[in-house]
Amino acid sequence: ERMQMASALEEKILVLVRLRPLSDKEIVANEVTDWECINDTTILYRNTLREGSTFPSAYTFDRVFRGDNATREVYEEGAKEVALSVVSGINSSIFAYGQTSSGKTYTMMGITEYTVADIFDYIHRHEERAFVLKFSAIEIYNESIRDLLSMDSTPLRLLDDPEKGTVVEKAIEETLKDWDHLKELLSVCEAQRRIGETTSNEKSSRSHQILRLTIESSAREFLGRENSTTLSATVNFVDLAGSERASQALATGARLKEGCHINRSLLTLGTVIRKLSNRRQGHINYRDSKLTRLLQPALGGNARTAIICTLSPARSHVEQTRNTLLFACCAK
Ligand code: ADP
Ligand code: MG
Repeated sequence: ERMQMASALEEKILVLVRLRPLSDKEIVANEVTDWECINDTTILYRNTLREGSTFPSAYTFDRVFRGDNATREVYEEGAKEVALSVVSGINSSIFAYGQTSSGKTYTMMGITEYTVADIFDYIHRHEERAFVLKFSAIEIYNESIRDLLSMDSTPLRLLDDPEKGTVVEKAIEETLKDWDHLKELLSVCEAQRRIGETTSNEKSSRSHQILRLTIESSAREFLGRENSTTLSATVNFVDLAGSERASQALATGARLKEGCHINRSLLTLGTVIRKLSNRRQGHINYRDSKLTRLLQPALGGNARTAIICTLSPARSHVEQTRNTLLFACCAK
């Protein structure tokens, strides 16, 4: 029983909350904020609309980050431990969840780069092992998967591989050579992601982006021998569609299909995460969306998961901010 408790503690999903600063544009527009991080774990809602009446409401998580905390801090004091479990052969996933413009991409890009830098550093310090670091990048839009490293926009299929589990058929996996190579690949992804966007952020607010690092290693002294074993694990950096899409189930017209699909992916993820965090026995519906199907090996089981919930401080966004915090509370 004690063993069970220990593993349950390890499986706990790490929930981080990051409040971004007001943007220059918001400041010019006289936006104000009612949110305040009162310590490292608690964010407070203080309604100052009416003189003399305040309605404080506190939300507590593993860690909350203020507008003046750098992404480096979010990484070092939060996501790093989960991301780097990959070098010990443990799969992991790091999600950015929040409404459009709350800072998901800003946060995930930084975290991805810090992780790769640390992995390269780890590789250099462990010359007794031979490492191969692979990078792939896909986008899920309308429940359709596209390779962000390929100029070909033909949708890719998910296949059930008896050994590897669910894999994206024909997805390009680049062997990462060095830091410059990573930067090059990230700019290819960025360019691919822009294609088809009508207005800025239009498509990225509806699609999920998954950057995936796979690290394979084997002890050099056994290389080429029959008894050599390869340790392999994957870390996923998931920049989710804007969470406002989850509450737009009643979209109309041409947007209906997109709205429904995004709704389904986000809702399925929410359900999966809720079940995992409750450590409830029973069926987990990974197969209900492409996103959860693909991430299944890196969710639950002995995999590590961190969710970074990004928040806009603006008073005009308070409703979505509350929705994000409610999601974050469910994941705890
Ligand atoms: P999302 O991906 O959630 O739509 P972005 O990451 O694109 O949001 O962020 C929206 C804007 O806010 C961008 O211009 C970004 O540079 C800026 N931004 C986001 N988070 C921060 C932060 N913590 N500090 C400073 N600027 C930020
Ligand atoms: Mg974004």
